[in-house]
Amino acid sequence: MDTQTPCSSPLTALFPTELEGFDQLAKLALDLRCSWNHATDDIWRQLDPELWALTHNPWGLLQTVSREKIRTLLADPGYRAQLDKLVKKKREAEQTPAWFQQNHPKSALNAVAYFSMEFMLSDALPIYSGGLGNVAGDQLKAANDLGVPVIGVGLLYQQGYFRQIIDQNGLQQAVYPYNDPGQLPVSPLRHANGEWLRIKLDLPGHPIWLRAWQVQVGRTKLYLLDSNDTANYAPFRAITSELYGGSADLRLMQELVLGIGGWRLLNALGIEPEVCHLNEGHASFAILERARCFMKKSGQSFAVALAATRAGNVFTTHTAVAAGFDHFAPALIEQWLGDYANLELGISISDLLALGQVDANHSSADFNMAYLAIRGSGAVNGVSALHGDVSRRLFASLFPRWPLNEIPIGHITNGVHTPSWDSASADELWTKACGKDRWLGATDELGQSIRAVSDAELWRFRTAASQTFVRYVREHLVRQMAASGTPQADMEEAQHLFDPKVLTLGFARRFATYKRPNLLLHDPARLLRILTNPERPVQLVMAGKAHPADQAGQALIKQWIDFIRQPQVRQHVIFLSDYDMLLSGHLVAGVDVWLNTPQRPWEASGTSGMKVLVNGAINLSELDGWWAEAYRPDIGWALGDGKEHGDDPNWDAIEAEALYDLLEQEVIPEFYQRDEQGIPIEWTTRMRESMAHLTPHFSTNRVVREYTELRYLPAAKAFRERAADNGALAKQIADWQQTLDQQWAGLRIDGVMARQESQQYFFSASVLLNGLAPQDVSVELYADGVDGKEALRQTMVCECLPDDSKGAYLYRLTVPASRALTNYTLRIIPCREGISTPLEVNHIVWEH
Ligand SMILES: *Cc1c(COP(=O)(O)O)cnc(C)c1O
Repeated sequence: MDTQTPCSSPLTALFPTELEGFDQLAKLALDLRCSWNHATDDIWRQLDPELWALTHNPWGLLQTVSREKIRTLLADPGYRAQLDKLVKKKREAEQTPAWFQQNHPKSALNAVAYFSMEFMLSDALPIYSGGLGNVAGDQLKAANDLGVPVIGVGLLYQQGYFRQIIDQNGLQQAVYPYNDPGQLPVSPLRHANGEWLRIKLDLPGHPIWLRAWQVQVGRTKLYLLDSNDTANYAPFRAITSELYGGSADLRLMQELVLGIGGWRLLNALGIEPEVCHLNEGHASFAILERARCFMKKSGQSFAVALAATRAGNVFTTHTAVAAGFDHFAPALIEQWLGDYANLELGISISDLLALGQVDANHSSADFNMAYLAIRGSGAVNGVSALHGDVSRRLFASLFPRWPLNEIPIGHITNGVHTPSWDSASADELWTKACGKDRWLGATDELGQSIRAVSDAELWRFRTAASQTFVRYVREHLVRQMAASGTPQADMEEAQHLFDPKVLTLGFARRFATYKRPNLLLHDPARLLRILTNPERPVQLVMAGKAHPADQAGQALIKQWIDFIRQPQVRQHVIFLSDYDMLLSGHLVAGVDVWLNTPQRPWEASGTSGMKVLVNGAINLSELDGWWAEAYRPDIGWALGDGKEHGDDPNWDAIEAEALYDLLEQEVIPEFYQRDEQGIPIEWTTRMRESMAHLTPHFSTNRVVREYTELRYLPAAKAFRERAADNGALAKQIADWQQTLDQQWAGLRIDGVMARQESQQYFFSASVLLNGLAPQDVSVELYADGVDGKEALRQTMVCECLPDDSKGAYLYRLTVPASRALTNYTLRIIPCREGISTPLEVNHIVWEH
């Protein structure tokens, strides 16, 4: 493949390119920064107010609005002046040094490749399903805001994720509209001479040709691959047809395209990232391809290349259940990657399989993509503190005999891109309190500024939000009913449903059983009483899709629709179909309380509850995911006892009752308790504290700063050191690992002596190192932590001459006698500067 500098040519013959000013308009429309920076809204609205309100898709507008209309607007000096100003602002925003340039001017970090199966950036680009894509999209946007050099890599699906219709019978129907690349805000990547930039993967039978696309997110870029190339063997053109659909075969092919194709694309573009961030295990094959490229460049073996490159790989795991990780039958891996292993990586297929299996005793086990990610990364993270805990349990089997709290998985709690999820009026309120650039740097001071906003102002803001929301809900509902053939009378009724003065609860999420979307339906009569209390009524808005293969999830939707269709309920509960980013934006801005009822600990983080913070809604959530660390009694409400109860139906019943109690006794009274001006002071107090205390922390601004400082910068540095000199250090590391692998079984702790003298213990032990040097290991005195305290770990001192003919070394340590002698034990672990133990070497020997 040749590596000429590619260029993108967004404009095709479809457009009135001859019109002076049109290219400016197109440039703005192709920049997804428009989707959250509302400065450009007005120029799109003028093109077609109705379509704009419906789609918020500038690039789509440009293709549907008549040329005459565009011509007229561009000829209007007012419009042109507005346009020129926006283009100038865009350029300034891209060139101004941001947080990263100001705080890390001389860093070793030039590029982070961020791989994800889905990206939720804008409704105009429907290549997402839910939470995972949300995290990816929001992090890319925050990277732009902060100037962190992140480059996204993903897939361009011809159909994306399914769209939802609720039919006359209350059943979910899945439909798959076609994503026409010409109508998406993407530009094809081409060489300077106009040729397509194509990436080739050699697979058995047929090569796969991949096309590449570029998405502009401010100064940040996202590259997307798709296999819909006419030169492909026809079935291969369908590889990128659908997100999370199809067979294991198809999924594996998608992951090959994403991981291997994605890294190859970066190469073809001349980009050499120091850091590769794997957002979930789907893209783990990038680890192999990155190592392969290093092999080619340095002439080193696969083991050395992996030792060099893994230091620059960062893995984030998102699931809280073992079944959530993608895994493939060994035969399938062998079929598609056998040649790649042998011919490209120079390793056997069983060596490759071992990277995705628990251990050598499980050579017929499925190949687990998350295991590969852990074996190939220098840092591993969960997405909340609780999820870090859960993940240490999930991956404990990869680190046999290591204490649970030393399983090398940390966490960086998720956040959301606040500017994408604030409503226009929330933006106004925050701008007044905290200034325009509040999300572009450190956010520690913002809370104080929001605390200064008065109750009256906060309540005015919420009242206006409720009015806007009720209008939106009615419109959306009527359209949805018309599309599924609802009788006229019902549609007329729908135009008067809901009341802006009534307390509005919101629940929107994927309908999966562990999320318990039916918890509120546990006692339908009690729920109905709560909703229809004449003094203090409540209204509930719901949304959510169930995966087309998830029958149980679809049954939960049906259960709600059946409940809602009862005449006495209809006024109080609305189910809005086709939960997507646009709908989500309206919901999080409009409801008063956001409900979240997962079974702990299965919601790894959850992000929708974070989206309501900036808009002044209050969370009522199970103590799971992010809420387990965010909750305080003065900022929201909590469900559950902070313990795990599996899917015990008795416990579900207890929590359902607790939820009704909480609503009846706390939430509803607080909302309707007004002062003489009609303001619910306790409510606005809680709301203000939720906004002030939580919004800055649970933003991707904080997340991306943490990833940059705690992960990317150290990873970039470590990778550079190991890679220097054609991987000289990596070679030493790989050799050292190999020596350890060979010798470790012969290590032994002998002749331990322990005695007490006054307040001290004296330990000594004779340790057989089996040919390893004392500096290769650390001999430690260890005692489990008690009462939630950290374990005691102290390095013993080596008398560094073998003390007998067997080559044993004498180790000694004196410690205060603070605990019973029997609490202590000795252990040997590998030790080498710059090596992460046990992530990179998981050997351990215990005294007992
Ligand atoms: C925020 C969001 C999600 C993820 O929300 P969770 O809290 O993780 O369930 C899913 N889908 C859409 C459309 C969203 O906006």
